[in-house]
Amino acid sequence: MSQKRTGHTHVVLETQEVPPERVDWFLDHVQATSPCLVMDLSVVHENYVEFAKNFHNAHIYYAVKANPAAEVLSTLHGAGANFEVASVPELLECLAVGAHPGDIAYTNPIKKRDDIGKAYALGVRAFTTDSAPDLANIAQVAPGSSVTCRVAVTPPGARSPLGNKFGCSQDMAAALLREAARLGLRPEGVAFHPGSQQLNPHAWDTGIELSAQIFAELAAEGIELNSLNLGGGFPVRYIEPVPPISAYVAAIDGALDRHFSAGIPAIRVEPGRAIVATAGVLISEVVLVAKKAASDTHRWVYLDVGRYGGLAETEQEMIAYQLVTGHDGPNGPVILAGPTCDGDDVLYRKTPYSLPLALRQGDQVRFLGAGAYTASYASVFFNGFSPMATYYIPSQSD
Ligand SMILES: *Cc1c(COP(=O)(O)O)cnc(C)c1O
Repeated sequence: MSQKRTGHTHVVLETQEVPPERVDWFLDHVQATSPCLVMDLSVVHENYVEFAKNFHNAHIYYAVKANPAAEVLSTLHGAGANFEVASVPELLECLAVGAHPGDIAYTNPIKKRDDIGKAYALGVRAFTTDSAPDLANIAQVAPGSSVTCRVAVTPPGARSPLGNKFGCSQDMAAALLREAARLGLRPEGVAFHPGSQQLNPHAWDTGIELSAQIFAELAAEGIELNSLNLGGGFPVRYIEPVPPISAYVAAIDGALDRHFSAGIPAIRVEPGRAIVATAGVLISEVVLVAKKAASDTHRWVYLDVGRYGGLAETEQEMIAYQLVTGHDGPNGPVILAGPTCDGDDVLYRKTPYSLPLALRQGDQVRFLGAGAYTASYASVFFNGFSPMATYYIPSQSD
C-alpha cells in the first residue's frame, strides 16, 4: 500500500460503509480510470440485511433507480430482495439476474401503455398508479393486475421532495381504487413517498393517517385493501448526522398503531439510497486548483467529475458528500466545481467545504457514500466526457 493512500483521513459513519483499506487494496489491483465509482458489494449485502432486520415485518422492494447495476441487483436478489422498477429496461435488468416477475412491482405512475403491456407479458402483475388515464391503460393491457394508488404527501424534512410530481389527492386515490375494482383489477392498497433523504422520522405520519382513512372508507363499501407501501426516503449520513433507521421504524410503528386500529395491513417499503449509498466511493482527480483574483480568500478546486458526470444530486447543494483527500491539513475554504463548460457545473459554492492547502492538480479526491444516484445519472457525451466507469469489489461471501 503506498504512503499516499495510507494518509487518507476517514470519519467512521453509523451505517455500514466501505472500509478505506478495501478501496485502497482494490485500486492497487485494477487499472481504474478517473473518475470512477467503486462499489463494494459486501456493503450492499450488509446494508440490505441490516435494513431487513430493522423492517422485519415488511416486504422490501429495492428501488432500482438508486443504482441499477446488474452486480448490485444480483447481490440484492441473492439477499432476498424484491424490486421496484420504473421502466421496462429496469424490469429486464431484474429478470436478467434471476428475479421472479411476481417479486417485481412497476411503480412509476408515468408510463406508456405499451410498456405496461410489455411488463404484463413478462409476468408483472403489480402496478402503481396515480391518475385515471394510467389506470385505464393498466385495465386495458394488464387485466386482472393488482393496483396500488399513490397519494401525494409533502412532509418537510426531505432533501429531495417528490410529492409535487407524484401522487394524487386522497379523494382521487379512493376514487381510483374504486374504479380499479369496477375495471376488473385488484385494488391492492395505498402508496406514498415522504421524499428522499428524509431527515425526519415522523415524516411518514401524515401519509399513514391519510392511507388509513382511504382503507376505512373503502372497507365500508366492501373493498378490502391489503397493503400499505411506505415508499423510500430512509437517509444515510453524508456530512450531517442522521437519525438511525431504528428511529424510523419506531416512528412508523407508532403511527401504524395509532391510525390502523382495526388491524395493520401488509407493509411494503422501497428503500433505494439506504441500501446502496454507503457502498460506493467515487474517485475523482483534481484538474486545477486556482484563484480568480489575488485577493480571493478561497480557492476554486476543479475536479474531473461534476454535475453532469454523475453528481446530479449536488444540484442546489441538496446532497453534500463527505470528501477525503490524501493530504493532511492545514485546510482552507474552497469552491468545488466540475470540468465542463457549463456555468451550472458547480458542486458546492455555499456549503462550507475546506480542503488541504497542499491539494494540487492530479491529486485524488474521494466522495464517500456515493453509491446511490451517481453513476446512472452521468451524461453520455456532454462536452466530450464519457460516463464514469464503475468497478465492483466482490462480496466477501462470493
Ligand atoms: C426513488 C423511489 C424510491 C427510493 O427512494 P429513496 O429515497 O432512494 O429510498 C422508492 N419508491 C419510489 C416509487 C421511488 O420513485
